[in-house]
Amino acid sequence: MNSNVLMDEPAIRRALTRIAHEILEKNKGIQGCVLVGIRTRGVFLAKRLAAKIEEIEGAPIPWGELDVTPYRDDRSGFVETDCSKQLIMNNQGVSVHDRKVILFDDVLYTGRTIRAAMDALMDCGRPQMIQLAVLADRGHRELPIRPDYIGKNIPTSKSEEIVVALKETDGKDEVKIIQN
Ligand code: 5GP
Ligand code: MG
Repeated sequence: MNSNVLMDEPAIRRALTRIAHEILEKNKGIQGCVLVGIRTRGVFLAKRLAAKIEEIEGAPIPWGELDVTPYRDDRSGFVETDCSKQLIMNNQGVSVHDRKVILFDDVLYTGRTIRAAMDALMDCGRPQMIQLAVLADRGHRELPIRPDYIGKNIPTSKSEEIVVALKETDGKDEVKIIQN
């Protein structure tokens, strides 16, 4: 198995700083914005981004975590879902209703996870807008979904895989590509 590091710790830090600035520029600040990370690694990225945005703007941005598992289209059978169990916000009482929701995931591939995330969000309220941030976009979309903020575009073949390591879960920050 051969591997290739594409982002190291400083590169990930710089990408998150750039995305924080892009979010602030696009939304003219953070008024009405909430960050929602998709479990597992998207949550840690959203949390880091929230800290960066607070550092830059001097005001906190609400963030939360979303579990899209019950909304996935590859699950068999109908599963009754209760959005309050899927979306957990750090600031109690903050909802996604009428907000600009910025979803964050580690890797974007077919787009099916993001479609599921959008369904979940819609069950939790009616966002004013949904934007998408990803650390890595590896291509191969199967749905008309594109990210608004991208850490790094990493064109891959289907047999390749992107390995995202984050300090919170893996003890180090690194993005690499492996050939299976
Ligand atoms: P999609 O639903 O767009 O096909 O895949 C995106 C989801 O699967 C993301 O939540 C991501 O964590 C995971 N994923 C898909 N491809 C990769 C990959 O190459 N590396 C990693 N680390 N995760 C992937
Ligand atoms: Mg994932």
